Amino acid sequence: MKKLALLFVTMITLLLSDSCTSEQERMENRMRKFISAFEAKSIPLYREMSITSWNANISGTDADLALSEKASFEYTKIFTDTNAFNELKEIKGSGAVKDPILARQLDLLYDAYLGNQVDTGLISLRLKMETEINKKYLNFRANINGKELSDNQIEDILKNSTSNSELQAAWEGHKLIGPVVAEDIINLVKHRNLIAQKLGFRNFHEMSLKLSGQEPDEVTAIFNELDNLTRDNFTQLKNDIDAYFSKLYKINPANLRPWHYQNRYFQEAPDIYPVDLDKYYANQDPVKLAASFYDGIGLNIDAILTKSDLYEKPGKNQHAFCTDIDRAGDVRTLDNIRPDSYWMNTILHELGHGVYSYYNDRTLPFTLRDAAHTFTTEAIANFFGRLSKNPKWMYKMGIISETEAENITENCRKSFRLEMLVFSRWAQVMYNFEKSMYEDPGQDLNKLWWDLVEKYQMIVKPEGRNMPDWATKIHVALYPCYYHNYLLGELLASQLYGYIAANITDNQSFVGEKAVGTYLKEKIFLPGARYYWNDMIEKATGEKLTATYYAKQFVQ
Ligand SMILES: [Zn+2]
Repeated sequence: MKKLALLFVTMITLLLSDSCTSEQERMENRMRKFISAFEAKSIPLYREMSITSWNANISGTDADLALSEKASFEYTKIFTDTNAFNELKEIKGSGAVKDPILARQLDLLYDAYLGNQVDTGLISLRLKMETEINKKYLNFRANINGKELSDNQIEDILKNSTSNSELQAAWEGHKLIGPVVAEDIINLVKHRNLIAQKLGFRNFHEMSLKLSGQEPDEVTAIFNELDNLTRDNFTQLKNDIDAYFSKLYKINPANLRPWHYQNRYFQEAPDIYPVDLDKYYANQDPVKLAASFYDGIGLNIDAILTKSDLYEKPGKNQHAFCTDIDRAGDVRTLDNIRPDSYWMNTILHELGHGVYSYYNDRTLPFTLRDAAHTFTTEAIANFFGRLSKNPKWMYKMGIISETEAENITENCRKSFRLEMLVFSRWAQVMYNFEKSMYEDPGQDLNKLWWDLVEKYQMIVKPEGRNMPDWATKIHVALYPCYYHNYLLGELLASQLYGYIAANITDNQSFVGEKAVGTYLKEKIFLPGARYYWNDMIEKATGEKLTATYYAKQFVQ
């Protein structure tokens, strides 16, 4: 009897496991089939999209722009396919896909399709609203004493004028774009929320983060951690800044107002520690320096440079970016290099994106041959870009003498620290504002904005001011719910720096340190998108993403 029962149990177990296996097998096979169909369609369209966009950015001609727009539309269209989405939904709903590589692709593709399962009428209305708002920003010029001024001219005044009345007029003049766009933005925010709610999210902020693979609570926790770690130090630095400006503008520190901080939003550090890095790069070739540096750490970039477009040309995009054309080794960067500190930083930054893409694992499926998240590639780019302001690196690269390096170390450190802390406090305003605005677009947004500016940036609100100053920042309207990634990128750059300094090398210039290249390649580049970003970071550094190392580097 006992024996029989045991046999029976064994049979049931066998049956069960057999049916499990077959369900798993069935769903995994469906997923494999889905992926081959998806890759057959998307790989050529992805390449077409990248190459036409590359060409358009170089020539700037209408014909090339039209080709690029068309290719980008065709690629995006893949993800609007409802049948394909339903197939993914069924496979995901079964919970039977266990193979980690298949499961990860399932998650990423599901999110990519989900974000595009919206009624096309709602999407085109959204695009129309965005275009209208964009036009208003483009056409707006601050009018000061009858003179029309561009944003750059406003920035020039804020940076260079020492006249209190001129500063105030420039700042207030620029802020007049607020009332022009505020109502449109609130309507757009409500419309974005409607789209998000139709897809099952509470609001657009939550949807944006979740569909890009971020948990809002996780991001908020990191931002709060950073706020706690930086608050006291920033308070002190802010006092130094105020003391400096009080002298410069000959006013009492208590009378300093937002127009006294040399920037429309106080998002960049004011120049209070004099270091002129440009003069050191004036006789240098940033490309040569970058090529020899990357080669020295075992990440040769010749293949990237051969395909790149590095110098100014008529009609060409005036900024810089890096693009992975085919996720199979064709990686390029577009730049407008000049021999100065800005472009040294930029080329190191863009090539950071470049090595991340170039050294990916080409045996991984197409969907996983990508960064773990957009902010993780930003982190690598920042990690390398920062070296351009590092006197130790400049010395080891033969740009300055050892004595000169020692002479500028203190001011470089101070100005870099100020830059980082000022940016971190500003990013807090942006993140917390957007989060709260999408949670309740009907609230008093003017008050919300100034409460946050006072709390994080410690800037005094002009007496009685009740204007939509939040609406003057174009990112709020047109590049929504993305700003926080810039800060997360900085946090991870510091975490990697901290880990490498403690475990890989104590040569903080990294020049010639092959072990640094090997570490990044093995732990960050090769895994690509195969792990959730925070799991990747934990595997690479032993910890999840944390603000501790950023604080360690910039707070004391
Ligand atoms: Zn970048």
